[in-house]
Amino acid sequence: MPKTPSNSSLIHVAPEMLKNIGLSEADSKTEAFLNVFSGTKVLENTKPYAMCYGGHQFGNWAGQLGDGRAINLTEIEHNNQNWAIQLKGAGETPYSRNADGLAVLRSSIREYLCSEAMHHLGVPTTRALSLLLSGDEVLRDVLYNGNPDYEKGAIVTRVAPSFLRFGSYEIFSARDDKKTLKTLVDYTIKHHFSHLGKPSKDVYVAFLKEVANRSLKMVIQWQRVGFVHGVMNTDNMSILGLTIDYGPYGWLEGYDPNWTPNTTDNTYKRYRYGMQPQIVLWNLLQLANAIYPLVEETKPLEAILNEYRNDLDVDYLKMMCSKLGFMSENKTDSILIKELEKNLQLSETDMTIFFRNLANLKKLEVRNWFKVVRESFYEPIEIADNIRLRWTDWFAKYAERLQSEDTTDEERKAKMNTVNPKYVLRNYMAQTAIDDANNGDYSTIDELYQLLKKPYDEQPDNKKWFVKRPEWARHKVGCSMLSCSS
Ligand code: AMP
Ligand code: MG
Repeated sequence: MPKTPSNSSLIHVAPEMLKNIGLSEADSKTEAFLNVFSGTKVLENTKPYAMCYGGHQFGNWAGQLGDGRAINLTEIEHNNQNWAIQLKGAGETPYSRNADGLAVLRSSIREYLCSEAMHHLGVPTTRALSLLLSGDEVLRDVLYNGNPDYEKGAIVTRVAPSFLRFGSYEIFSARDDKKTLKTLVDYTIKHHFSHLGKPSKDVYVAFLKEVANRSLKMVIQWQRVGFVHGVMNTDNMSILGLTIDYGPYGWLEGYDPNWTPNTTDNTYKRYRYGMQPQIVLWNLLQLANAIYPLVEETKPLEAILNEYRNDLDVDYLKMMCSKLGFMSENKTDSILIKELEKNLQLSETDMTIFFRNLANLKKLEVRNWFKVVRESFYEPIEIADNIRLRWTDWFAKYAERLQSEDTTDEERKAKMNTVNPKYVLRNYMAQTAIDDANNGDYSTIDELYQLLKKPYDEQPDNKKWFVKRPEWARHKVGCSMLSCSS
């Protein structure tokens, strides 16, 4: 059962999600709404529950974990879609272990804003419905360095067709509990993959194949927008291929495949940007192992993992070609893309600004390339600089490649602007909303929420958010340095 908060108040609601589950904005202003989504009152005829799951954390089997601070309130069917509704931060559950089951305002704002922003970017994700203050204080050691302090407690309501994770299956396999494993996989297929047909060995294989496909689609989208999840443990991998559990995530500012926002992962950087697609594969291997007892054959499972490798290359190339404004893929495009990825690291280059502004290049005016992308460089690049020469070289090849496209500059720009966002939730932006909220000003949360509903639009009034990371945010806690404390 959720804990009753001492003095809850609503900070923000997401009108789209309200509508999806059949509620209106007027509903969200009622006391009943506040009572239900703060965990004060349990809806009649419902039985809230927390889920048991296990997981591989940072490459090691961590045993049983479970919803330590997430409580599923109920499920709602609306317009033929089933939604599970979950409170995060509403107190202890049977899986809280030694922790309090609560969440702080900073991490709740981050989850709330980012999950909605991801949805509007076109990335599969769990959604957010509401953000509330609990009125209670929560003790946290932000950087795990012996400096605990009290922070405002908050509760986010998350919504998704299902919150099942890879770890939900791993736990029963680890316990040699084939019966419950089968019950859960059959349930998942029946409710979420019914098009695959009645459960059988072949259908279990098809199930893994579809989870692999969905997870690949998800991670390719992460790479496209520069999102770094930060904790891709198998308990944080949705069986539906949704981005789930927004913890120490971050957004690439300077393009850097080795970057991770998660300070807990600083040593090995297992979950760095450039590794994410490989980690999905590693996680799929764990899922394949987990359902193996139902299939009892390794070959078809291995085949799926091998296909993932091939599909990854194909889909990644496709995605990068779309970022570059190519309507189809050429044999030599992967070389051009590899060179681009190297060049982006010659000096710190803002990923979002680079790709967005690249669309302004005119096919026959490649000599202007520097003017077009200049804004994306964090440090000045002089004319005679070797870096500048290497870019000139790359742009010459890029312009030549563009000649083989039939599209006009205008058409290409329009197309590129649908895949290269103008606005993402830069790390410092979320932190600005958090700092303001901690001072009692919630207007920045709404400002960012509105901005990120249309991330591909120009939004001339919002230009102030289309800038490189300000220097103050380079090493600031909460911006480039995050831990799992939340
Ligand atoms: P995460 O790293 O957020 O995915 O969490 C890993 C595990 O720790 C999950 O099982 C969470 O439910 C649990 N957990 C994290 N924070 C808390 C908390 N404050 N209280 C209870 N459980 C927690
Ligand atoms: Mg988690």
